[in-house]
Amino acid sequence: MAQFDDTPFPGTESRAVLVSTIGVVGAGQMGGGIAQVAAASGLTVVLVDASLDLAERGKARVASVLGKQVDNGKMTAEAREALLAKIRCAGGPADFKECDFVIEAATEAIELKIAILKQCDAALAPGKWLASNTSSISLTKLAAATSRPERVIGMHFMNPPPLMKLVEIVRAVQTSDETYELTRALAERMGKKTTTTRDAPGFLVNRILIPMLCEACFALQEGVGSAEDIDTGAKLGLNHPMGPLELSDLIGLDTVLAIADVLHREMGDDKYRAPTVLRNLVAAGWLGRKTGRGFYVYDDKGNRALARV
Ligand code: NAD
Repeated sequence: MAQFDDTPFPGTESRAVLVSTIGVVGAGQMGGGIAQVAAASGLTVVLVDASLDLAERGKARVASVLGKQVDNGKMTAEAREALLAKIRCAGGPADFKECDFVIEAATEAIELKIAILKQCDAALAPGKWLASNTSSISLTKLAAATSRPERVIGMHFMNPPPLMKLVEIVRAVQTSDETYELTRALAERMGKKTTTTRDAPGFLVNRILIPMLCEACFALQEGVGSAEDIDTGAKLGLNHPMGPLELSDLIGLDTVLAIADVLHREMGDDKYRAPTVLRNLVAAGWLGRKTGRGFYVYDDKGNRALARV
């Protein structure tokens, strides 16, 4: 069992804290990646999705990613096995009884997240913590749906969690200083840098990013340039590592649309409205890399070609 350090929290009551087992809800690209990062930092992980089968499929994707690292000589086969052994799949949040801290990373929809957080709240022992990896949804609303609002916080990992350094920590209005300090220390233990934001639509990172992604969609639907023109422009002209349309495909177009709709509704400003081309792709079920088609089409190996949108 890995022991969380017991350094007194600066400015808060000094106390020892033990976080050795983490629950993760949602075994998609973010939940799987968070489970991987947590296990790599020595934590035991209980991974759930809408069913045991989906949780196991999520773990299988982690196993496949780690398999490539073994093939490339970046990890030993023993280290891969040891990491995977720390991730246990389970049927649902009712299996979180032994968990010290839960990170919810299910689909970006408020009703779903509230229902999941209520289940986690009912399963977790008193005094334990609940975090959401939401990209945009109000942590204050999520916290208010639980019996432990002062122990609820946003822990917004970037995609993909094993590679991206940042965790944006979002304080709900109700979040206690102790919960905040614990979460920050936990993120650091998982090898991440943190930035802190108040609870506002899209927080900081997506408040900046999503309007840019939507603007790229507007340029595409107005015929200003092709998807490749737009992505090349951003990469070579702005020095971005990825263009906005390929990044949208990586994030998941359903997630981009859900965040844009939260920003639009909560900010009440039409500058955040979602473009039709994005709505149409989501309506068609073309959600980007995770479905093999979005602004681009992808083969099994992830190679891409231009799609008709
Ligand atoms: P995803 O579509 O890859 O995975 C979502 C997972 O949630 C799926 O496995 C789905 O089966 C599961 N799920 C749906 N209903 C569920 C239920 N009732 N109980 C348990 N699991 C359920 O999406 P993702 O990209 O992993 O996004 C997950 C969360 O992370 C969202 O809140 C999203 O906004 C946030 N996020 C995404 C990114 C990104 O770039 N994709 C970055 C940061 C944060």
